[in-house]
Order: sequence, then C-alpha cells, then structure tokens
Amino acid sequence: MTLALSDPVASLKGVGPQMAAKLARVHVRTVQDVLFHLPLRYEDRTQVTDLGALLPSLSTVVIGEIELAQVVFGRRRSLVVRISDGTGSLTVRLFYFNRAQEKSFRRGLWVKCFGEVRPGPKGYEMVHPEYRISAERPQGGFDSTLTPVYPTTEGVSQLLWRKITDQVLQQGLQQVAELIDARCLPQSLRSAYQASTLQDALSALHRPQKGVDLMAMQQATSAAHQRLIVEELLAHHFSLRRSRALRAHESAPVMLPDKTLEGRFLANLGFTLTSAQQRVSAEVSTDLASDTPAMRLIQGDVGSGKTVVAALAMLQAVSAGVQAVMMAPTELLAEQHYANLRAWFEPLGISVGWLASKTPAREKRAVMQQLVSGELLLAVGTHALIQEAVEYRNLGLVVIDEQHRFGVEQRLALRTKTPADRVPHHIAMTATPIPRTLAMTIYADLDVSSIDELPPGRKPVETVVMPAASKRNDVIERVRQVCGEGRQVYWVCPLIEESDALEAQAATDTAEELSERLDGLRVGLVHGRLKPKEKETVMAQFRDAEVDVLVATTVIEVGVDVPRASLMVIENAERMGLAQLHQLRGRVGRGSEKSYCILLYQQPLSQHAKARLQTLRETNDGFVIAEKDLEIRGAGELLGTRQTGSISFKVADLLRDQALLPQIEGIADQMVAQAPQNIEPLIDRWVGAKEDYVNA
Ligand code: ADP
Ligand code: MG
Repeated sequence: MTLALSDPVASLKGVGPQMAAKLARVHVRTVQDVLFHLPLRYEDRTQVTDLGALLPSLSTVVIGEIELAQVVFGRRRSLVVRISDGTGSLTVRLFYFNRAQEKSFRRGLWVKCFGEVRPGPKGYEMVHPEYRISAERPQGGFDSTLTPVYPTTEGVSQLLWRKITDQVLQQGLQQVAELIDARCLPQSLRSAYQASTLQDALSALHRPQKGVDLMAMQQATSAAHQRLIVEELLAHHFSLRRSRALRAHESAPVMLPDKTLEGRFLANLGFTLTSAQQRVSAEVSTDLASDTPAMRLIQGDVGSGKTVVAALAMLQAVSAGVQAVMMAPTELLAEQHYANLRAWFEPLGISVGWLASKTPAREKRAVMQQLVSGELLLAVGTHALIQEAVEYRNLGLVVIDEQHRFGVEQRLALRTKTPADRVPHHIAMTATPIPRTLAMTIYADLDVSSIDELPPGRKPVETVVMPAASKRNDVIERVRQVCGEGRQVYWVCPLIEESDALEAQAATDTAEELSERLDGLRVGLVHGRLKPKEKETVMAQFRDAEVDVLVATTVIEVGVDVPRASLMVIENAERMGLAQLHQLRGRVGRGSEKSYCILLYQQPLSQHAKARLQTLRETNDGFVIAEKDLEIRGAGELLGTRQTGSISFKVADLLRDQALLPQIEGIADQMVAQAPQNIEPLIDRWVGAKEDYVNA
C-alpha cells in the first residue's frame, strides 16, 4: 500500500482513531503533517560517559556493573540499583517496578542506561532511565545515530513518533515536491538549496546520519536546517499576507471624524498632542474612515501617551454613531483607562460604560442592556467585554492595550458579536517596540504606527548601577529617605528561571526583611503565586498610597500609573533582559518629581550583562533599547511568546535566525512573480491547519 501526502494519519500503522485525535492536538492530521513535524532537539545516545565524569542535568549513556540492588522504603518505595565502572559510581532509581524487574538487577551483571543525571542524597542518580541488562560488559551507546526528540502531547510517546516518522520517511517522502524555485532566492541562500534537496533536508532532520556534525544539528546551522528555515519563514510570511488580503474583502463601518467634536475634546485635555501623537492619530483616523477593517498596532514607549490617541479613535466612532470598546489585560489597568476616558468624554456629554468580571451582577446587566440597545456607545473593561453574554448593537472599533496582536480566542469571540459581513476595526497598543526587520516578518498582516516622542517636560529617569554586595544597605537607607519625603518605592526581586515558587519565596523574604528594617513604613508584596484578586488588592493599595514600598517579582503590572512612585530598585538586574528592565523602569518617572532607578547586580558580571546595564544607564529610548537588545542577544526577552502571539515555528527561531529575516520579503515577492501557484501549498505544508486560527 502506498501512502499519499494527503492521507489521514489513521492510515499509518499503529494509529487508531484515538491516537489520531491525540495527534490532531499538535496539528498533525495528515501524512504530510507527520513529515513536517520536525524534531525539537536530538539526544546523543551514541557516546558513553564514564561514571566518574558525569555532570548534573547531562543526558547520556552510562555503563556499569551492578554492585547492589535493593528495595528501599523511604517516603516512597523505590528500587535502588548501585552501579560502578571503575571510574565512579551511580544510583539508578525506579519508583515503578515489578517483581521481574526487581529480580533482573542481579549483582555482577552489567547494565547500560540512558537518562538524565541528577544530584541525589548519595551522589548522582538516574531516575527511570532507559536500560538494558547483559551478562557481559556491553560496548558503545544505544544508537549509532542521533536520536530525534519530537514535540509531543500527552499520550503520544517518542517511540510512536519514531514509528510513524519511519513510515512516512519510507513511503511519503518521495512525493514531497520542491515548491521554491532556486531562482527566487538571493545568491547567498542558493548554496543551501544546492547542498540539499528538500527530501534530503527532511530526512536529515528526522534521522541524522552517522558522522553528522552534532553542533550543527543542535544549533540548526546545517545546510538542511537552513533551507527548511527559509521555507518556514516564507510560509508564515505568506500566511500573514494572505490574512491581510482576506481582510480587504471584509467590511467594517465607515467612520468619519467630526472636527467640531474633536476640537472640543482636544481643548479639554489640558495638554497639546505631541507631533508624534498627531501623526499616529491621523493614520488611525484614515483607517477608520475606510470600510476595510483596520488592523493597526500602535507602538510607543511607556509614557508616550498612547491612551489619548486611542481615545481619539473612539471619539471618531462616537461621531459616526458606532460603538467602541477598550480592553486591558488586567482590571487595574482597565480601571485606570476608565478614569481617564470618563474625564475626557463626560464633559462632552458622552457616557462611558464599565465592565469587568468583578462588576456586581446587577450593574453588569444594566451595562449589557445599554450595549445591546445602543444607548451606550463607549465601554472600557477587561476581556469580560467580549464574553459570550455581552452583545452589541453595532460594535465598530475594538482597542486592546498592552498587546501586540489579537489573540485567537479574542478574534473568535468578536466574530459572534457582529454580523458576518461586518467586522470591527482593530487597534492594539504596546510599549514593547519591535525592530523593523522583525516587524516585517511577524506583523506582515498589521499596519504599524510608532509614537516615537515623549510629551515635553518629562524628566528622564536617572539610572544608576551598583554592586549589591557593598551597596544594598545604603540603598535600603535611600528607600527610607524617599518614603520619608512622601514618595513611594518599587523593589523588584530577582528573576529565578523556571521556578515561580522560588521566585515568590525570594520576594516574600525580601518583603519581610524590608519591613523589619524599614520600621514604620508599609511594605506590600506581589508575586506570581498570588491569586489575581490578591494581586489587584495590593496594587490598588499601592496606587492609593496605603503602601509605601511595593516588593514585587517581575510579574509587576505593565502600564500601571502611580505618579508618586519615584524610585525603583531592581535586584539581580544582570539576569534580566534589556527590554524587560526598560519596561520595569517605566513604572517610575510618571510624576513631576525626578525619578531614579537603581540596578543592583551580583558579581561577577558577564560581558553581555555589563553591556546591557550600560545601555540602560545611557538611554531612556525604548527603540534604541530594542535594537540593542537584539544586537546583544541578551535573554531573548524581546521575543517572548507574549510578543509573537499565536505564531509558533517548527525549525525557525526569530532571534537565532534574524539574519535571514530581511531577505524574506524579497524572496516572497520573487515567488509571487515566478511561482504564485506554489504559495498555497507552501502555507499548507508549514502552517497547515494552524492558520485557521492565526486568521481567525
Ligand atoms: P502610555 O503610552 O504609556 O500608555 P499614557 O497614555 O498612560 O502612556 O500617558 C501617560 C501620561 O501622559 C498620562 O497621564 C497622559 O495623560 C499624559 N499625556 C499624554 N499625552 C500627553 C501630551 N501630549 N502632553 C502631556 N501629557 C500627556
Ligand atoms: Mg498605557
């Protein structure tokens, strides 16, 4: 039987209807999807490591003679096997085992294991390794080639992935067609395409052969990787272009501005718009006056005044008699917007509604009633605004704060709020600027405006960098002094990778320490382990000056405006990315007082860390910082998943592969000219079923 690329996965051996459903969870539905489901990384089971040379968290093959095997009754019953090879020894531990297994580990036999080395109570351990027992001392590792490790989902084992990829490599691979004509490629990329056909590249990634360059495989620099990365980046770029093109066929309400009303709005503000705000506002206004649904991202540094630009867009909706909503990721931020929008709109006789999950049921019902009837044109809130029960009479504009793109669920939820042929205009706002080359690739479906100027009179935050060991006590004194003058302080605790429990603990300890040492000052605490409600309560206390010093982990809210806070202390600043530090620093410098940011670091300081801290001391410009961040390649902070939204890649990595990005647009144009018929198949191959929600 031969397989076709479009055959369902259920046609593969070992895949029944239940397994097919599990595979669909990772978007693998067809034979082609299996072929393009690429390994995440590779395990090296070819090399054997001496027991005397083990390092924690290393995953490796070891061989040893069984010295002792016994069942131990500790907190959990386990089978403990002690092995040694003359250079050292290791404990193999099994928590789940049967009688036969227990008996098979006999003193004097040899065992070969593959697993991760961890520190245990008596030296290194391997817990539940893969193992094989033999009478003679075995030679060599488990495999002669690198072992692929596939991204997976619950209930789908690596063994199954290997089985099904074996089948498609044998039968489906020959049918994969080359879609990108080498003539479309710039000279610099042609060599990768000449070095490896698509079929070879896929087979090299699924089954790296003996003698392959291990580093190149792990770091994705092999010719096979390079050509697949280009394909994937192109496919995503095309899929974004296509979603932009689809939008052109949808229609949104035409909203013309009312210049008189706008004049009254501006006269009431108490400040004049900066020229950057005026420019971006004009761009937005043009969008809204067209019946093509707007999809615009407004990027602007913290404090650049994005809210008022969004409010002007909402005013244009009101002028056209159309409804507009503004959503923020947290209740606290939304409340802040609510206060601002009321102050701006109510003097013009325009009411603003409020909707959050916390809103009492009766008020909620009243607001929802007014939204259905069309009595209320404007509303502010959290995502409660687009929950099922909420209906609108004619929703024409959705503004989302602190977000780069609209989440899948949000877009789907919105679809049900408007007639099928009527789509609202979309505006997103973010304080994390994305350098141009990246923007072209990941925002090919968005229009981007930048507010690249701060309102006049802002005093830049003065940033100082200090070693914690010798200066921390002085800094605590400084906190006392600042609070004594009626101002407030943020104290940000270190980032502890991959453990929000430890992170929360560190913050709790710091809060205790500070409240002991800062007698009479009120110290508040927020960290990721708190419930959202608890977090909001503390944040609100800080906003209302019921708390003097706010100890926080890096979860601290973006966009929170507490003008009285004029000092921020950041511990272990050397561990954080530039963009993140800049965001944090943006919490101060919002009032009329001069503000300070103290970056404490632990020695020794790496070159990268030194460069990062230096950059922060020298500039307050978010765009400069974003470019630098990319240059220095700090923690990869810039492109966290929050920023890329729903786009996920199989082989490409936007940070690692950034050198390729500027070329993608050009290649795409070439392909449109030379092989337009290949575009859809390319999207289908790489983005596949997932794009129904990228486009949602
Ligand atoms: P962000 O871009 O960080 O969301 P906001 O919209 O919260 O910034 O604005 C920060 C502060 O600056 C607000 O208090 C806002 O009223 C004020 N503001 C905005 N534009 C101007 C301006 N052109 N001149 C003076 N103050 C302004
Ligand atoms: Mg804001």
